[in-house]
Amino acid sequence: MAAKKTIPRVTLPEGVRLDTLAVREGLPRSQWGENSEALFLTSSFVQPDAATAAARFANEEEAFIYSRFTNPTVTMFERRLAAMEGTEACIATSSGMAAILLTAMALLKAGDHVICSRSVFGSTITLLGREFAKFGVETSFVSQTDVDEWRRAVRPTTRLLFAESPTNPLTEVCDIRALAEVAHEANALLAVDNCFCSPALQRPVEYGADLIIHSGTKYLDGQGRVVAGAVCGPEQLINDKFVPVMRSAGMTLSSFNAWVVLKGLETLSIRMQAQSERALKLATWLEQQPQVERVFYPGLTSHPQHELAMAQQSGCGGAVLTFVVKARTPGDAAAARLTAFHVIDSTQVCSITANLGDTKTTITHPASTSHGRLTEEQRQAAGITQGMVRIAVGLDDVEDLKADLLRGLNSL
Ligand SMILES: *Cc1c(COP(=O)(O)O)cnc(C)c1O
Repeated sequence: MAAKKTIPRVTLPEGVRLDTLAVREGLPRSQWGENSEALFLTSSFVQPDAATAAARFANEEEAFIYSRFTNPTVTMFERRLAAMEGTEACIATSSGMAAILLTAMALLKAGDHVICSRSVFGSTITLLGREFAKFGVETSFVSQTDVDEWRRAVRPTTRLLFAESPTNPLTEVCDIRALAEVAHEANALLAVDNCFCSPALQRPVEYGADLIIHSGTKYLDGQGRVVAGAVCGPEQLINDKFVPVMRSAGMTLSSFNAWVVLKGLETLSIRMQAQSERALKLATWLEQQPQVERVFYPGLTSHPQHELAMAQQSGCGGAVLTFVVKARTPGDAAAARLTAFHVIDSTQVCSITANLGDTKTTITHPASTSHGRLTEEQRQAAGITQGMVRIAVGLDDVEDLKADLLRGLNSL
């Protein structure tokens, strides 16, 4: 876990770049010299003697003790992700939502106030707005793109600003640098959910974000195998505030899942590039289809924050796009929903699943899946309509994806 300064690091030359860190950063090899990182599938670690065990349990000496809070495979994943995000430390969690839960538990107490974008992941809205409200933490939900609204929402009790960029499913982009300024003027921290871009395309610390949240389930694993999460940030903050909560509350990433995600990081950069290229091609094509009313994709010049996205995201739009099918009777939400369902159900290549970040292209209807638990009012506030279809582009051939969508679009 984050603390282990005295546990040796892998030795790499000073200043090696992201792609090298992605395949090499971690712990030194064990005495067996394995080239691929070992999977330490063990719940506890044997101590040399009782006195050493006592010192280690008292945090006087750093060592692996028990896999609820320390495991070498998990540490390898944490070190590698921290290196890629450009943060000092990282703490892995059992899921992306557990990463947000851990962040809230670590930083907030009754009476504290949070400002959060209205457009973040549906479960994040529920976790902060409903679950944490039960413990006396109040959250103001504000516009993803209107920085003044964030500034006006600041109170003396504001501790945390929470943003996500680009968002699901509308791919709205926030100005991370501007939000970091609002947070720091208010003596609060800015947490950015970097799920959609991953460090391969966007490193929010470079724009002043304090904490980076990850759902490792998405692009970090990248092949739809495991659920995982992580929080990256400054070492002292992680050690003082996050590690003790993890130790008591145990939203731990299993070593097996950590190993899968660790190996996923090795191909993250080439997958993000390839999937983003395909997404841009598909979005450009969709925008030309007469049955499509609108396409949301940061790589298109029609996207309202196109320039900001290109500057913040290494010139890349990412791999998620959303489009609205043209309704035969405008304003009829039920008809729009049926039309979207028809397009989804006509596909034979795409996987119908709300997950994203897989090499297999996925297709979903946000209003009834990822955002189905929101009230109609919350959905409208987030701009999610019944005619929307979200595609998370994988590594399928883009011509096959076009044909797959045309099946439904041509038979509306
Ligand atoms: C999926 C997702 C999460 C939650 O991650 P899980 O691993 O499913 O718990 C959080 N934020 C965003 C943006 C996501 O897409």
